[in-house]
Amino acid sequence: MIGPVLPSTGVLRPLGLDQVRLTGGFWGERQERNAKASIPHARHWLEETGWLGNFRLAATDDLAPHRRRGREFSDSEVYKLAEAMSWEVGRGGTAPVDELSTVVAAAQEPGGYLNTMFGRPGQQPRYSDLTWGHELYCYGHLIQAGVARLRTGVKDALATTAIRAADHVCVEFGPTGRQALCGHPEIEMALVELYRATGTARYLDQARLFVDRRGQTTLPDIELGRAYFQDDIPVRERAAFAGHAVRALYLACGAVDVAVETGDDKLLAAVVRQWERTVAARTYLTGGMGSRHEGEAFGDDFELPADRAYIETCASIASVMLCWRLLLATGEARFADLAERTLYNVIAASTSLDGRGFFYTNPLQQRAAGPALDRSRPWPRASSSERAPWRDVSCCPTNIARTLASLGGYIATTDDGGVQIHQYAAGTVASGDVALSVDTGYPWDGAVTVRVDRTGDRPWRLSLRVPDWATEATLVTPEGTQQVTPGYAVVSRAWRAGDRIRLTLPVAPRWTMPDPRIDAVRGCVAVERGPLVYCAESVDHDPAPALDAVNVDHSAPITERPMPALGRDVVALDVPAPTNPAAGNGWPYGSISTAAPEPGSLTLVPYHLWANRGPATMRVWLPVASSTQDRR
Ligand SMILES: [Zn+2]
Repeated sequence: MIGPVLPSTGVLRPLGLDQVRLTGGFWGERQERNAKASIPHARHWLEETGWLGNFRLAATDDLAPHRRRGREFSDSEVYKLAEAMSWEVGRGGTAPVDELSTVVAAAQEPGGYLNTMFGRPGQQPRYSDLTWGHELYCYGHLIQAGVARLRTGVKDALATTAIRAADHVCVEFGPTGRQALCGHPEIEMALVELYRATGTARYLDQARLFVDRRGQTTLPDIELGRAYFQDDIPVRERAAFAGHAVRALYLACGAVDVAVETGDDKLLAAVVRQWERTVAARTYLTGGMGSRHEGEAFGDDFELPADRAYIETCASIASVMLCWRLLLATGEARFADLAERTLYNVIAASTSLDGRGFFYTNPLQQRAAGPALDRSRPWPRASSSERAPWRDVSCCPTNIARTLASLGGYIATTDDGGVQIHQYAAGTVASGDVALSVDTGYPWDGAVTVRVDRTGDRPWRLSLRVPDWATEATLVTPEGTQQVTPGYAVVSRAWRAGDRIRLTLPVAPRWTMPDPRIDAVRGCVAVERGPLVYCAESVDHDPAPALDAVNVDHSAPITERPMPALGRDVVALDVPAPTNPAAGNGWPYGSISTAAPEPGSLTLVPYHLWANRGPATMRVWLPVASSTQDRR
């Protein structure tokens, strides 16, 4: 199997990039854009910023501290791009991974150590700042890049460098080594994946050691508390994900990997429990996670402000990685449901239509349109109302690149009884003697046709996920038509080549209400259509600032219309939206008003497409029109 995450056991077995091919459609087009625009774009910026040059200087012993460029974690961006390129090659494309491989390998030191920030004359000593230095985090990404090479059948310099680094870590941080942790989890899942790719048990042992060591207050107390790096409570004892969202979710991925490979059902159950609580109380409608800018962190339960949402792109990628692991381990549709929501509403949103601009934060409301960004230089801040070409902290673009390049590996699975399709994308799926074609215009259209192109003689089961929102889905099989409910629609029969089944998911727009405990959006509604969350964007309205005072009438019908300005097949929505008169008297409070709002209407566009038409304001949650909520 070519792809990320290959557990040796579990309810479902993943099908890889060599077995699932995306051809056109929503995700196929994004995968092509990733290959043709985003990966070369990232390669350009790694050169432009000097982050790749650091490796060249390290190889020639010219890396004096004043010559090194970038933040302490910049090495990891080179590794993540190398991983993206490896998957791109693995799915049959081309990318200059050999070049990166050579540059990285040349910088490795005798003994396996590799980091351009530490250990040279004038630099801080190795492992002198595990709290903030990201040395083990960077190894994690190096090892994942190496695993991507090994899974594509290439044991090249990158793979060898990753193995040498992992061996070094096992000696340095093993049972008799430093009793220490990295401030940023990531290496845990990487070591388990390297164990899976090589069969070398000490990598799994080391990963388990890191997971068990976390939460023992090994790292220092800091202003944000040890919860920031999940060192406050042991993984097994935590109630919900907390602290820095990317760190928390990467750690959870590593914990699931360790649990699955060691048969540790209690550890797996602990992560599932934390996931449930996090989904129930700490997750945005888009699937985004992380509601605090302070510490880039999860908030308390129901602390989910729309305008101050942080929702780092990388946290959403980590959430999809975690969902996939939990899906493979359990076979439960709820994990694929959240993955779908996150893919369409954060991961698709994070990249501009040209593939060369990236969001770091993904809020659900933009109150002020920011400046038009200069696309020729990195943007210094995480937040902006436009996607930046690159950032001083640029973890997200390379993370998106590796995710899209390997997306075929997150679509379908197999077990002893048949094939399961979890995400709907136009393409082909092959498993053993079975070959399928998937034809769909999803998510714009709810019809998914699966055709059996090749099959053996023995009966087998085809399982199609029915998303949690699809309460009136229908399935047409050679035996007839039936209603199907959320979960998996399973068809078990003796298939013949040419058989077709057709799943129709109801993608009519629908109003969605928040739990009243989410105070920040109480009294508001949102609109969803199929898996897509919609938003109002100021560029569709004149005068532009009207979004602040808008109300919607959710008893009225929602009408659909094409929006070719945002792409072929894109559907925009119109809803009635009476507007309150602005207060305008220098004090934004007043007595309760019974004045009728002015009639109006509001155009909604898919959230993932906002900010592709210049700086704008935007909101997902829309206040419900009610005379008692109006004020003057
Ligand atoms: Zn990021």
